[in-house]
Amino acid sequence: MAKRDYYEILGVSKSASADEIKKAYRKLAIQYHPDKNPDNPEAEDKFKEAAEAYEVLSNQEKRQRYDQFGHQGLGGNGGFGGAGMNMDDIFSQFGDIFGGGGFSSFFGGGGGGGRRTKKGTNLRVKLKLNLQEIANGVEKKIKVKRHIIAPGVTFKSCSTCNGSGQIKKVVNTMLGQMVSASTCGVCGGSGQIVDKKPAEADAKGLIVKEEIIPINIPGGVAEGMQLSMSGKGNEIPGGIPGDLLIVIEEIEDEVLQRDGNNVVFDLYVSFVDAALGASIEVPTIDGKVKIKIDPGTQSGKVLRLKGKGIKDINGYSKGDQLIMVNVWTPTQLSKEEKQALENLRSSENFKPDPGNGDKSFFDKMKEFF
Ligand SMILES: [Zn+2]
Repeated sequence: MAKRDYYEILGVSKSASADEIKKAYRKLAIQYHPDKNPDNPEAEDKFKEAAEAYEVLSNQEKRQRYDQFGHQGLGGNGGFGGAGMNMDDIFSQFGDIFGGGGFSSFFGGGGGGGRRTKKGTNLRVKLKLNLQEIANGVEKKIKVKRHIIAPGVTFKSCSTCNGSGQIKKVVNTMLGQMVSASTCGVCGGSGQIVDKKPAEADAKGLIVKEEIIPINIPGGVAEGMQLSMSGKGNEIPGGIPGDLLIVIEEIEDEVLQRDGNNVVFDLYVSFVDAALGASIEVPTIDGKVKIKIDPGTQSGKVLRLKGKGIKDINGYSKGDQLIMVNVWTPTQLSKEEKQALENLRSSENFKPDPGNGDKSFFDKMKEFF
């Protein structure tokens, strides 16, 4: 197959500047990147073809030879080992064209065997929230100590790996020359090392800085849930910062119990209030409210305050507050009280008579949960 003209492949003129060539290649590399075109051999060929063209045209000496003698001037195979370049070669040789990791992050961290963007470590903090904060969501300020690149630090290209972040070794084997790449031990793979730094920065050019980071906690979070703030973790030279992970801890409320998005309150009413009816104040997430106890209310009745529960984390709905009515039986009585009750003992109205309308506790639970 006849080789296509390198200028034609990149879509640039013969007089194109180094910058124009780089830009043209970058565009093609992104267009035909294997991560963007999985299982597409045609795209892979285009990707390799563009890399080959760029390899030649970005090198002044090779470009001159190519201009004068065409493909033959490069030894007939474009200067690559017979079968062309493999993907790892392309990534390790041209990774730096994408500006220290911008390429990989554009594609969500590589995956095609390419150069991986270095990422700083994540920070993890625990955040305690009370029921009110969980119910409605809250803005919190979180104090963290992050590693950040010190102001005034300058970096220079790592001379050990020539800024590629990788050390390539050519090994002669029975099958011919094999290239192996390993992370550069001097720069740790970032391709750059500290040039100048302020005295307080460490060898990597980092300082520890205390920062207050505001975060909006949505309503409806739960114990153990983890929220992530991208880029708010530790910074790293030549890479992208890690994330800040916020682990939710629920502070148990003293009177209100959480049950999913509902809150449950155990109400104790006197026997008299249950029999005669009453207006009683109960606590809710948003403060106290008065509720009506109907005359003849049975122990075990469940009252519902609609929308007084917890926001749903995935939607706009809100849970309810459920009030479990418990009728309190007096445990000590005065002589007069005993006498008064004794007079009622044989009264027909005081004999238990659960009808069909009075569901058992178990049936009520089934209905509510
Ligand atoms: Zn290096």
